[in-house]
Amino acid sequence: MNINREFLSQRNINGTGNPCKYIVIHETDNYNKGANARTHAKAQHDGNFADMSVHYYCGSDGTYQAAEHTCKCWHVGRTYVSNPNNPDCTNNNSIGIEICVNSDGDYATARQNAIDLVKYLLQTTGIPADRVIRHYDAKGKYCPRKMMDNPSLWSDFKAQIQGGSSDVTPPEVDTSWNATGTATCTGNGVYYRPRPTMNCEPYGQLNKGNRFEVDGQEKNGWIHAKVVDQACWIYKDYVQYDGQPAPTPDPTPQPSGWKVTGTAVCTGNGVRVRSSAEFGNNILLWLNQGNRFEVDGQKSGEFVHINVNGTVGWMSKDYVKYDAAESTDSNSSGNAIVHDGQIHANNFSGAGIATDGIRGSATKKAGIMVLQVALNHDYNAGLTVDGIRGSKTDAALGNHYVKYGETQYLVTAVEILLMLKGYNPGGVENPGQFGSGLKAAVTQYQRDHGLTADGVAGRNTILSLIA
Ligand SMILES: [Zn+2]
Repeated sequence: MNINREFLSQRNINGTGNPCKYIVIHETDNYNKGANARTHAKAQHDGNFADMSVHYYCGSDGTYQAAEHTCKCWHVGRTYVSNPNNPDCTNNNSIGIEICVNSDGDYATARQNAIDLVKYLLQTTGIPADRVIRHYDAKGKYCPRKMMDNPSLWSDFKAQIQGGSSDVTPPEVDTSWNATGTATCTGNGVYYRPRPTMNCEPYGQLNKGNRFEVDGQEKNGWIHAKVVDQACWIYKDYVQYDGQPAPTPDPTPQPSGWKVTGTAVCTGNGVRVRSSAEFGNNILLWLNQGNRFEVDGQKSGEFVHINVNGTVGWMSKDYVKYDAAESTDSNSSGNAIVHDGQIHANNFSGAGIATDGIRGSATKKAGIMVLQVALNHDYNAGLTVDGIRGSKTDAALGNHYVKYGETQYLVTAVEILLMLKGYNPGGVENPGQFGSGLKAAVTQYQRDHGLTADGVAGRNTILSLIA
């Protein structure tokens, strides 16, 4: 049994003295690329999880131990039902194991690594096999999701740890899935989602060349697909079927009345195209860098009227690069970096503020909204995105920090917050990647504001940025 203990720590635990009565199985529910066992173990080790910790992470990249068995980890949590199967099981008397479900990993391998680990733990700890339970059994939470979705996977798990031969044929993961073909993703940062709409939290992102299965279902321009083991929906413009030259199986007819005056290309990733020239709950689709569209010369405030393969809508002029010379109506008042930061703040948080390049009270409030969105994404903080720095926002920020090399939404927030103060981080990504440009901008900001100039965006720096 090969267990990597590189990231063992006592970070974020509820003390020691765990009697280890139960083993509790979870799944991370994190389908993002790279969200493997090593990444999770390192994040726990580095203190990047709020109120969450386990003893082991199992991925297709191996098994990582993040806490000693004596530690009481935060993984069982509150009770979701009145009568769970094992009410006696708590954070304080159990060993927690998370199985990774990252889209660039192999779930079957990750699950098998968990089975091998549990067999090893049964031998070495003396915990009986009937005390190996799901998070669901302890507290009624719908976890581990894939084994809840398909209970035969859980019965197989239990059979294998009790010495059932490991050559048991693993049951089909999703028996309702009838693949009709395979396809490739044609864009970078393309979200795959639980429902055929933009208005839902995505499972994760795909990049150009990522492959998946399709089953022939399409709804409102969304293609039903299976990414690794996850049934999901992907917007048709990013789906290239194998054996077919062009995507769009049923191209939307060109809207009547559209009078093209030129063509243009999108210069940003995750840029929203909206049904009306205002910020709000009106998103038609998202464009990525390099996506092409037509224009008809119409503009409204910050927005340009565009046509993306038959979908007509409005997008921010700052991400429009015209093929031929065309006026971009550059607005010269205010600070250019603050102006760009305001656009990013609107896109990231839906703040809907004026992009006048002037840091006024609305811009400050938008900055706090940006932070709240990031804390909700990264730490499930559950904050109301209201732009008010209350005690809940303060507590959710806690002592979280981001530093060079890290990728998370709090990095995006720091990038935008710097821009709202007129500092250029050299780009904004979603989720953000803390590179050398951001480190330089953070360090300069810290120097200018009497903070420790270490280039790490921690609590003091972030509180200064939203002030
Ligand atoms: Zn769980």
